[in-house]
Amino acid sequence: MNITRREAIRAGIVGGAAIGGFAIGGLFGCAAGAAPSSAARPAGAGRTRVLRLAHITDVHVQPERGAAEGLAMCLRRVNALTPKPDMVITGGDLIMDGFAADEARTRAQWDILTRVFRDECGLPVRHTLGNHDIWGWHKSKSRTTGAEPRWGKAWALEQLGMPRAFHAHRAAGWKFLHLDSVRPDGDGYKAFLDDEQRAWLEAELRATPRSTHVLVVSHVPILSFSALFDSKKEAPLRVNTATMHADARALHELFASHGGVRLCVSGHIHQQDEGAMHGVAYRCNGAVSGNWWKPGGDRSEPGFAVIDLYDDGSFDNAYAPYGWTMRAD
Ligand SMILES: [Zn+2]
Repeated sequence: MNITRREAIRAGIVGGAAIGGFAIGGLFGCAAGAAPSSAARPAGAGRTRVLRLAHITDVHVQPERGAAEGLAMCLRRVNALTPKPDMVITGGDLIMDGFAADEARTRAQWDILTRVFRDECGLPVRHTLGNHDIWGWHKSKSRTTGAEPRWGKAWALEQLGMPRAFHAHRAAGWKFLHLDSVRPDGDGYKAFLDDEQRAWLEAELRATPRSTHVLVVSHVPILSFSALFDSKKEAPLRVNTATMHADARALHELFASHGGVRLCVSGHIHQQDEGAMHGVAYRCNGAVSGNWWKPGGDRSEPGFAVIDLYDDGSFDNAYAPYGWTMRAD
């Protein structure tokens, strides 16, 4: 499930160059003779691009396997895009895991993440929380009691400078709604919005005129067909509510009835997939860490998505592998 050729052409990924690996030609200003990106030529149909985003999800930074170098390489590629993105949006799972990790291990991962973003990003960043960013919900494995001041989502919020786990912002005629997908379920979690967040989301949409285009960011996909293939190969296929939002139907109906919700992006599955229904598009945008930094596996190549947003509510969402080679140890 790769990006479509049409999306790739619009983002300047193809133009004589192959899709994938290093062959990402016009996406990066450093590529000599590269195809022009979509800003450098008429966008067509009278539309004008108003924003370019880099969607960076599932970084899963850790001390092992060169993950810090991989993230740095990814961020350098983001910065070399022509035109440069206006903003980075992260999609959660910034660290490999705090959910079942002790305090020292969790701190080591946040320290790496903070250092690499400080040294390499240089763009405004809006974060989204993922399940692995939560500290200690698996109490026995993390050796926590739940009484620690940074337990749960508090540590990630503090580290990322987020006042709350779900939030909204606006830019260039678009509104961005970052959801917090993850609810506790024993030693694990499920994906859905609790009553407080659901009420917030409904109020945000009520206050947003249909003429404003809306992009929704969640860690866990609201709708995804690669989610069907994420569990073991048992039959029949089923959707695991830790893999896709359990409240998918309600959220989709809310978005479709609003009329201004154009695109919902997610991570979590480490696969690229795309779908659309009732005018709402869904894109699962792979993973910076690919197969969790390990060679092999069936996951997307390590990459990020370049999302161009237009004044008419249309968008291009193209996956850009950044050329990382997995390390064996
Ligand atoms: Zn992940």
